[in-house]
Amino acid sequence: MEKYIMALDQGTTSSRTILFDRQGNMIAQENCEFKQIFPKPGWVEHNPEEIWNTQLSTMRQVLEKAGIDGKQIEAIGITNQRETTVVWDKTTGKPVYNAIVWQCRRTSDLIDRMIKDGCRETICEKTGLVPDAYFSGTKIQWILEHTDISADRVKDLLFGTIDTWLMWKLSGGKIHATDYTNASRTMLFNIHTLEWDSELLSLMQIPKSMLPKVQASSGIFGYTKKELFGTEIPISGVAGDQQAALFGQCCFEKGDVKNTYGTGCFLLMNTGNVPVRSKNGLVTTIAASTGAVEYALEGSVFVAGAAIQWLRDEMKMIATAPESEQAALQVEDTGGVYVVPAFTGLGAPYWKQNARGMVTGLTRGTGREQFIRATLESLAYQTHDVLRAMEHDANLSIQKIKADGGASKNRLLMQFQADITGAQVVRPAVIETTGLGAAYLAGLAVGYWSSKEDIIKNSSIEAVFEPKMEKAAAEEKLKGWKQAVRCALLYAGDDE
Ligand code: ADP
Repeated sequence: MEKYIMALDQGTTSSRTILFDRQGNMIAQENCEFKQIFPKPGWVEHNPEEIWNTQLSTMRQVLEKAGIDGKQIEAIGITNQRETTVVWDKTTGKPVYNAIVWQCRRTSDLIDRMIKDGCRETICEKTGLVPDAYFSGTKIQWILEHTDISADRVKDLLFGTIDTWLMWKLSGGKIHATDYTNASRTMLFNIHTLEWDSELLSLMQIPKSMLPKVQASSGIFGYTKKELFGTEIPISGVAGDQQAALFGQCCFEKGDVKNTYGTGCFLLMNTGNVPVRSKNGLVTTIAASTGAVEYALEGSVFVAGAAIQWLRDEMKMIATAPESEQAALQVEDTGGVYVVPAFTGLGAPYWKQNARGMVTGLTRGTGREQFIRATLESLAYQTHDVLRAMEHDANLSIQKIKADGGASKNRLLMQFQADITGAQVVRPAVIETTGLGAAYLAGLAVGYWSSKEDIIKNSSIEAVFEPKMEKAAAEEKLKGWKQAVRCALLYAGDDE
């Protein structure tokens, strides 16, 4: 009887289930979108029950599609949208509030207050993060402060990120756990001692009794309840989405880097067993690993593929995202035009919230294709800036970028990325690296795969892009980009 690993990829807009075989091939996958709830400007919520129901239905659909039953699932791996926060009552199993999503800004004043009280350094030092409403800590604090919970009921409350919530549901309330990677995004977890931090908990007035048990990403967390799939299936791999992708890309060595080109870009670099503190606006986070704990540096670009959507939906310059490549290929270069898509400010390494988009270098001859090409190239320039920051922080030079995500299908972008960074860009055959990473973590824990070497053998490269541009030409282009970024910063009131 053929056996498979089932990966649950619970994302921000949809719940997905993917079935992998021993060679790492995708056998079946199902996807189900769910409702985004925006109660006020800047607020984002999900209904936890809907998250669970959509996830469960995709699991059932995948089994049906593949024509197999639960007994053929060797193990389950879970990867999830990170930081999103659920609080529920363990006696009723019911959430006390909607899930507060990572994008939600409602707790920024709580963060401002903590920073004013001088807590920035403590938080950075202990958690590796920059204090921000993005992380789970103040979201839990907000739920406790704003829902009508009597003092004697607080002891019945449980907190979880989405991995924890799904495991609780899958096990019928038996598992209340998370893994190091998800814990490291809560702003409550000490990444050096690998424990919930009492000082941070009291700072945010969160009782320790709410928090899940934390364990390594690869290992048995518990079992699904029998009623769901007719058998108890082990849940043996858990990691936040970006860390799962890092693992799925086989970035097992210190200095290995992956970049996911989606709506935004997420760059992660494995830094080995030692956490590296950034001096350039990156965050330190725990990476998924099978042995001793490993760390990663992480930098994000807010607007990447979203700039291509903007060309399509607002500028109406293209009908589909892939069309951006055909248009850009019509011209040799942008003719000196740069687009800085700082629509929501600039992230790492600039961190300028009120920067806004900028187009520089327009001439009478600038045409549609050059504009499109400049927008596409902005993904590569922004990635370049984060990469250089990583190199400085980790004190090493990056020779290779492992790419995935929707926009990594764009060959022109991949080639330009190699040209501008001088690093090789490698695209794997399976770009569903998030689900694959979760499957690998789960499969390694139960002996479905015997070692990381076993997995490396599986991973096949679909395309390699070698840097071809002269270094001087790349430098010249980067000079123009830096100037354009300076304009965006000047606009934001930077009077340098
Ligand atoms: P997410 O998981 O963030 O929703 P995906 O990995 O599915 O994102 O990638 C979708 C993004 O990639 C969209 O923003 C889209 O504009 C962009 N995209 C998809 N295909 C291409 C392409 N061929 N060239 C450029 N951008 C693309």
